[in-house]
Formats: sequence, structure tokens, C-alpha cells
Amino acid sequence: MSDTPPRADGARVLADLHALRAIGTYKTGVHKPTFSEAHMQSLQWLTARLPEAQLAATMDGIGNVLGTSAKQGPKLLAGSHLESQNYAGWLDGPLGVVYALEAARVLNADPAVKGAVEVAAWCDEEGHFGSFLGSRSFVGQLTEAEIDSSRDRNADRTMRQALESVGLAGRARITTPRGRHIGYLEAHIEQGESLETGGQKIGIVTSIVGIWQYRIRFTGEQNHAGTTRMAIRKDAGLALARFCVAIDETFPKFCGPRTVWTTGRITLDPGAPSIIPGGAEMLFQIRDDNPAVIDRLEEKLRGMAADVTTQGRIGVEVERIRSGAPALMNGAFQDAIEAAAKNVAGGKSVRMPSGAGHDAQVLAKIMPSAMLFVPSIGGISHHWTENTADADIVTGAEVFVETCRRLLRQAGSGAN
Ligand SMILES: [Zn+2]
Repeated sequence: MSDTPPRADGARVLADLHALRAIGTYKTGVHKPTFSEAHMQSLQWLTARLPEAQLAATMDGIGNVLGTSAKQGPKLLAGSHLESQNYAGWLDGPLGVVYALEAARVLNADPAVKGAVEVAAWCDEEGHFGSFLGSRSFVGQLTEAEIDSSRDRNADRTMRQALESVGLAGRARITTPRGRHIGYLEAHIEQGESLETGGQKIGIVTSIVGIWQYRIRFTGEQNHAGTTRMAIRKDAGLALARFCVAIDETFPKFCGPRTVWTTGRITLDPGAPSIIPGGAEMLFQIRDDNPAVIDRLEEKLRGMAADVTTQGRIGVEVERIRSGAPALMNGAFQDAIEAAAKNVAGGKSVRMPSGAGHDAQVLAKIMPSAMLFVPSIGGISHHWTENTADADIVTGAEVFVETCRRLLRQAGSGAN
């Protein structure tokens, strides 16, 4: 075995990312909604590159692009997504796809490496039509009925019409052959500022947080805003505002170190300047990687609602409308990333949960999965100014390729 195995080609990685940035450019970022022309061109760009990594390319009936290898030995799956949020950044998604491509180019051609990296671009990770449609299709958890009912959030068209318009209608969807892959590895920009602030180069994701969502309804009494004395009002809107403040005072005493909570939407009924709101509703979300913390906070939420209701003026109902278990990332894969970072990034790595959702949480349902993060400048993402320093992009690529090499080696030596 050579002492200096081939590493990632940093200039090639940057050139690839800039090639993808040149498709659907918006200011310094990109605009590539799912199944837009720019998204389809990006998928075609990847399809044309995959043979360079000795991979056979296919685009399936949900818009996933998959590169498969005929090489003997263990197969590691790697990838991310190529569509973007509207008018957003150039690295969210493409970074992970290009790293996967680079790992495949470096390792698949190397006779010293037993096995191969296979590459995937998952369709619609950004949720223009649904929730992780591409990766869920691949793991066999997407029904035809759900595709039937999915609609474009940006335009008046169904998912079926969109599939038809890009020539994918009727094409078979590919699901993973169980046991084919030793696991899944995805790289992504952090989308937060903790790596930058901590002077770290690589984030090793321990888990992807679960998201719990609640609809909280307040029922009071609608009345005239001019003639109803303050003392006798049953103002549902005011009760809602007080409730938000009470959450912010109560939750810090019971939450975990990284719990976050957000009231994302408030509606008042009827919502007019001269009418005391008789009804009010808030959509409230909590994210954490520990279900026990969520249980505790939900209990508090329900207790606070009961307290308000007991006072007799306003009724408060808490309804849980979404609960998501956190996805734990594989321990041995995390160790491999850490070892690789020690080797090629001076050990500047830190373990951390991901506050954002990623395809890896879907893949984790059926195979060992892991993620690594690179720093986001100023912690900005889902905005066209999103960026990462070139040097950090290159370091991330080197750690990614080295991690893949280690995972294939471990799997290869474990076999037989
Ligand atoms: Zn992303």
C-alpha cells in the first residue's frame, strides 16, 4: 500500500462547484427549484460526469440521479441534492454531490481500493413538492398516492404534471437493493455559525434533530373593539401573545442545551382592526435531538394551556400535528470522519447535532449513515449570499475522500 494514496483534487472540486453555480445563477447564488430548467440541466451535468468515476448513470422516475459501479467489493453510497431553495445559495446540496463525485473519481479508479463509491443526487430535498420525495422513494417509503397528491409550491401544477413536463412520467423509480451498500455518507455546509465561531473545519454530525410541530388554538369571544370594556373582554389574540411570552420564560428552565423553538405563524380570527379576536391560532415548532426533552416541554406546554383555560376566559387547545424522531448517525462512521479529519484537517473537527433536516435522516432508516459539515461564512444559508471559504471547501473534500477510503477499507477487511 502506498504511503500517500491519491487525495481529492481541490481545483477540480472548485471547478465543478462553479460549473453548477453557472447553471441558474442568481446574484452570487442560484435559483433552481425542483424540475426547473436549471435543476434539470444540473442533473444532466452530473449524469455526464459520472462515467469519469467509472459509474453508470441513471435518472429515475422521481428525478433521482444514481451512479452505480460494476467494481467488485463493498459499495459506499454518497450524495446530496442539486435543486435549491428559491433564490438561494450555490453550495447547499451541490457541495455534497460534488464531494461524492470526487470520492468516486479518486477511489473507484484506484486498484488499491477494494470496492467503490456510488453517487446519488436526491430529488426535491428542498421540499418544493413534498418532504424528501427522492430519498424516501429510494428507501421504498414513498407511495404513488403521495406523488398523486403532491403539488408545486411555486406554481399551479401537480407533481405528475411536472414529471410529465421534464420527460420523467411513467419512468420506473429505483429503490435500493437491500444490503448493496455498507452505508451512506453526505457532506453539507453547516448552515449555522458554530464551526466558524469555534475555529473548526469539520463538523461530525451525531444526529439530525427531530421536529415536533403544534397547532395551538385560543378561543375567546368576538366583540366590538370600541364598545367592549377592557375588564370584560375575552381577547383570544392577547391570550396568544401572552402565551408566546410565557413559553419563552418557561422553556429555558426545562430545555436541552440545543433545543430551539419557534412560533412560525399567527392568525387572528377574524383579524380586523375594529374587532376583538374571538379566535387565534399559532403554529409552534420545537427541534431537539432528544425525545425525552421534547416530552418534558410538551408536558409544560399542555400544562400552561390548561392553566389559561382554568382561569375561565379563554380556552386553549394544544394539538400535536407533527412529530419526528431524531435520526442517529452511525458511531463507526463518525469515528471514520474523525480519524480522517485528524489525518488531513489537523484534527480540527467537532461532533455536533444537525438542526436542519437532510436526506441522511431518510437513508439512516435502512443503512448506517453519517454526515460531515464544512463551515458556513457568517452562518448564512437559504440566501444567495451563502458561502464557504475555498480553502474550507478543499479541506472538506479531502476529509470526505479520506473518510470514504477508510470506510471501504474497513468493510473490505471485515468481509470473508
Ligand atoms: Zn441541503
